[in-house]
This record gives sequence, C-alpha cells and structure tokens, in this order.
Amino acid sequence: MTDVIVIGGGVIGLSIAWELSGYGLSVRVLEQGQFGREASWAGAGMLPPGNLANARTPEARLRGATHQLWPDWTNRLTSSTGMDNGFSRSGGVEVRFPDDADFSGWKNGVNALKEEGILIETEDVSEIKRRFPALNPEISQAYYLPDFCQVRNPRHLKALQIGCSIRGVELVAEAPVQKIRTRGDRVEAVHAGGNDHRAAEFVFAGGAWSGEFLSQLGIRLEIEPVKGQIVLLRTSQPAFPCVIQVGREYLVPRNDGRILVGSTEERTGFDKRNTAEAIGDLIRFAERLVPNLKHAEFERCWAGLRPYSATDRPYIGRLPRLNNACIAAGHYRYGLHLSPITAVLIRQILLKQPVQLPDDCRVAPGSDPGSFW
Ligand SMILES: Cc1cc2nc3c(=O)[nH]c(=O)nc-3n(C[C@H](O)[C@H](O)[C@H](O)COP(=O)(O)OP(=O)(O)OC[C@H]3O[C@@H](n4cnc5c(N)ncnc54)[C@H](O)[C@@H]3O)c2cc1C
Repeated sequence: MTDVIVIGGGVIGLSIAWELSGYGLSVRVLEQGQFGREASWAGAGMLPPGNLANARTPEARLRGATHQLWPDWTNRLTSSTGMDNGFSRSGGVEVRFPDDADFSGWKNGVNALKEEGILIETEDVSEIKRRFPALNPEISQAYYLPDFCQVRNPRHLKALQIGCSIRGVELVAEAPVQKIRTRGDRVEAVHAGGNDHRAAEFVFAGGAWSGEFLSQLGIRLEIEPVKGQIVLLRTSQPAFPCVIQVGREYLVPRNDGRILVGSTEERTGFDKRNTAEAIGDLIRFAERLVPNLKHAEFERCWAGLRPYSATDRPYIGRLPRLNNACIAAGHYRYGLHLSPITAVLIRQILLKQPVQLPDDCRVAPGSDPGSFW
C-alpha cells in the first residue's frame, strides 16, 4: 500500500510530496486538473524576509523558519532536477507617497521589522531615489530590505514536479477527489477518477477548495477563495532590480525585463475572470510608481484564487478525530513562501519526529485548535 496520498497538486501538495519522498516514503499526488496551475502558478513569487530568532508571533515564526529554508531547498531542487527556479535575493523597497493615509501604520510597520531584527539597509528616501532612479520622485518615504527574495513560481513548480518524479512520486492529473471514505478514526480511501485510492496516511492540500471539500467530514474550515488579478508588463531592459511595494500592491521585476503588477483582493467565489476596472487600476498604479512603465509592453494578465484563512494562519496539522489525515491549506498570500516549512512540518508530524515550531504555529481546525496537538 502507498504510504501517503496527497490531495492537491499546488506548491503545498508538491512540496510535501517532494519532502516525504526524500525520506523514503512512497507518495501519490491526486490533482483535479493539471499540476501547479492554480494559485501557485498565479502568484508573484515574493519571499519577504524573516528572522526566526526574534520572531514573536506565529506568523513571524513561520516566515522566519521558511526564509531560512529557501536557499538550501532551492539548491537541492536544482541539483536534483537541473532546473533553475529563479530564486534570487533581489531586495525589496517599500515606498509611500505624501498623500497615502495612515502614517502611524507606516511607523508601526518599520518598528515591527526592527524588533524582529530584519535588516533595513536604509530609510533615507533620497538615497533610495538615487539608487533606484526609475521610482517616481514624488515618493516621500521609503526603506530598503536587502534580504527580500523572489522565486519564479511557474519554474519552481516545474522543478518540484520533476523532483517528485525523480523520487518516484506518482503524479496523477485530472483526478478530482470527490469522496473521502472513513472507518472509525481513520480515512480508509479517497475516491477519484472512478478508483478508490488507499494509503496509510492522507494529506489534504486543496488550497482554496479545502473548506468546501472537507465539509463532507463534518469539519468546518474557514477557508475561502480570494481572487488576485495580476498584469504582466515587459520592457526591453530591466527597469529596476528589486521588488517595490506600496502596502499590499507591488511590482516584481524578473531579470528578463518582465514586470508583474499585483494585485487585487476580491471575494468573488471561484470566478477567475479578469476585469477591465482591476486591470486599469493596476496599470495606473504601475505608471504612478515607475512613470517610465507607460512605455512598457502589455504582455498578458491573469487571476488566481488565494486560499484565505479566517484564522490569519494556514491550517497545518492533524485533522480532528482522524488518526491518519493531515491538512496543509489556507496559506492565503504567503503559500509560496511558506511551502518549504509546511512540507517540513508535515514530514515531522507523519514521521513522528520532533516538530520544529511551537504549538501556536500549528493550527488545526475545530472549535478548540489546541486540542489537536
Ligand atoms: C495574485 C496572487 C499573488 C500571490 N503572490 C504571492 C507571493 O508573492 N508570495 C507568496 O508566498 N504567495 C503568493 N500568493 C499566494 C500563493 O500563491 C498561495 O498561497 C499558494 O499558491 C497556495 O498553494 P496551494 O498549493 O495551497 O494552492 P493551489 O496552488 O491553489 O493548489 C491547490 C490544488 O489543489 C487542487 N485540488 C483542490 N481540490 C481538489 C480535489 N478535491 N481533488 C484533487 N485536487 C484538488 C487544485 O486543483 C489545485 O491545483 C499569491 C496568490 C495570488 C493569487
């Protein structure tokens, strides 16, 4: 019998499969469509800095732990597959215009980064304008984070699929899991594509679909899809080297002259259509931040469904009442970044190894999350 069946082939499911198979477990991943084509493909690939040593909140601890893992995770994946996932320490600058509201929010943000011990190379807006001359000279405040990284997520997903195949993971596409069959306190099988799939352990990693899907087990997960639209622009020369953020909107430059402009947060169910209003707003945002982008070529746009979790943290852990089922879902805006630590935590749980992070980072669903740990 297969050791582990993973349901969902996004970055979370594939990372878990890659990690588990590296520890000698036999793994099958069931994906309802094509692998890595949903939120994980649509995302911008930003990997913000963290510092586990000084992290005080569960969110900061997960971010700090995963940030440490990324370089080694990338190296191992590249040496196994020969694929470059585009991971780079590109740096990131956060900027503010004089008419942006909420100055105290800006100050609190900077202070929180300092308390966490995250390196801020400069807060001198004149220096930042000198360093990144493409920026609109009207910006009034800025700081630069040299440890801000990025990954080209479509390449990373390809590398994970190849890495999984090399390790013998069975990747089954077009296999929507419709039913979960339980017996007592165990999941016996999941039903997909006309077949029952049995395993010793099951991991549910269905992203934005997880809430609806797991309701058949009587489990109430507060996960819902939140649409994010992205515009892809192209310039003949890279216009600037680092990620630029204004609050929750951003420009992410790739080293081939492409620039991702993101993103919206819309509660429109499972609708992935682009809208004229959102795309117009994103283009205006890009032009305001980097005026020269008005000459950029419009390449394409798309949308993805982030798995929003009402707890503000992903669900990572054992499912209630079931001894052989885990969940790893609800990573909202940070699932690419948190994918290595999620995979490590699931491996530690399944192999009964010491779990790396304190309890409050591991949220299982139910009325009393603590009781599942
Ligand atoms: C516009 C946008 C920008 C983003 N930017 C960033 C960023 O810069 N940095 C970052 O870290 N994160 C970012 N994110 C968030 C990140 O993309 C997600 O958190 C992450 O991709 C979630 O991964 P996942 O594997 O859980 O979900 P998904 O990638 O959606 O994968 C879930 C998979 O499960 C499959 N599935 C569902 N139900 C079933 C079933 N019953 N049977 C079989 N298969 C099933 C689905 O088909 C899907 O392929 C962004 C997201 C969006 C949309």
